[in-house]
Order: sequence, then C-alpha cells, then structure tokens
Amino acid sequence: MIDVHCHLNFHSFEKDYDAVIKSAFEAGVTKIINVGTKIDSSEKAVELAKEYENLFAIVGIHPHHVDKIEKGWEDQLERLAKNSKKVVGIGEIGLDYFSYKSNSIVDPKLQKEVFIKQIELAHKLKLPLQIHNRHAGKDILDILMNHKSYLLNPPGMFHCMSGNLDFLKKVLDLGFYIGFDGNITYGGLAPGEDTNLKDLVKYTPIDRIVVETDSPFLTPIPRRGSRNKPQYVIITAKFVAKIKGTTFQDLEAKTTANAIKLFTL
Ligand SMILES: [Zn+2]
Ligand SMILES: [Zn+2]
Repeated sequence: MIDVHCHLNFHSFEKDYDAVIKSAFEAGVTKIINVGTKIDSSEKAVELAKEYENLFAIVGIHPHHVDKIEKGWEDQLERLAKNSKKVVGIGEIGLDYFSYKSNSIVDPKLQKEVFIKQIELAHKLKLPLQIHNRHAGKDILDILMNHKSYLLNPPGMFHCMSGNLDFLKKVLDLGFYIGFDGNITYGGLAPGEDTNLKDLVKYTPIDRIVVETDSPFLTPIPRRGSRNKPQYVIITAKFVAKIKGTTFQDLEAKTTANAIKLFTL
C-alpha cells in the first residue's frame, strides 16, 4: 500500500514525524510520497526522503502560493528536482478557484502562468505531474490539451479527484491516474460539486486508481476529527475496494503496482 500524496513536511508533523512514519510502515504502508506546496516545503519533502529509504518527494508550487513566490523560483525548483533521485514528480501544481476561509482566490492569470511553467519543467526533467484541481477543471483541461506534446506517458495523476463524470472521462482519456482520499468516506457533496465522489470511484478503472491521504487533511471516517496520517490510507483503500466490488488484497496489489509504474518507485 502506497500513500502517493501527503504532507509530513508540514508543521503539524514537525514533532513526531518519525513515529508517524514508523507506525505507517508497521501498519502495512510500504512507501510514502511527501508533496511540497512551495519552495521551502518542497525542500523539506526532499530532506525527509533522504532520511528514509521508502520515502519519496514531489516538488512544486501549489496554486495558493503562486502570488508569494520569489524571483528565481524556477531555477530553485529545477535544482531541487534534479539534485535528488528521490524526487519522483512535479506537484502539487494546478489551479484552484475555490474561495477558502484561509485563502481567497489567487489571480487566475498568475495561477495559469505558474502551472504552465511547471508543466514545462516537468517535461524537461521527464517527471510526471501531480495535479491539484478545485473548481478549475475546464481551465486545467484547456492547458493540458494545449500542452499535449509536453505530457509524458503516463502523464501523471490528478490528486484528490473531484468534478463530474465528463471531466473524469477526459482526464482518463489523456492517460492520467486518479487519486482518491479520505473524503470519499464522507456523505453528501462538497460545496459547489454535483457528482458524488463514490461515483467517480465507480467509473475509474482499477488500473488507473491510486490512493492517498493528503495528511494532515481529509481524515477518513471513522477517524474524522483527528489529524490524518499515512496509515489511514488503508481505511480509504478498503472503502475503494468495497465500491469496486473487490477484495482489499486485490485493490492493494493493483494500486501499489499503479503507483510504482507511474512514479517509477
Ligand atoms: Zn491539493
Ligand atoms: Zn496536498
């Protein structure tokens, strides 16, 4: 079982990341990918990956932070990605048009510019993309279609999938893998969404599914309310297996193989 997207590089794990990582491995998680959202958290993800054999890093600038990046960030990111073999992708990158309490919408034009520059960087370094999308599926698809020649095979994954079935179909047609998180265990629809996440799971072929936690966020039921951690990826995987009408062992084997193939782990 592999958690393909979490943030043990964030503050919330500063004091006990070693215990969190060890308990995840004891619980049956075999590999963990930590993801950066700006330069310093990307650096931290790379540092963590150096400390543990089965930790990997994805580096990039999240759409929330594109208005705070400093001059020269492209070179910094490129150096970071090139200097460690444990960097397995560029992310989390993408577009986010949702207005959060903690973060209003960052200038979409700037979001697009930084997203495109990172697609170009990933192409140059031959690394897959890990895409963050919230309420921006149409613009993300437009950008990907316009940069088709920049996409690898496979091109990457959409992390924490949301959107409707038509969007999912287009993303699958482009060859992307689909990441599901603990929020698939929640009932009802997230604000502004019209398609239940369980239906997205149903429609996605098993050979394209990867599982993730987005720790410390999106804790699955029945642990919701506490800090999320990589070992809870198993709860989400069990939930996905049930929706797909297969066994946990089958889903574990297939999603693990998918993650290894996508990120060459
Ligand atoms: Zn995200
Ligand atoms: Zn994330």
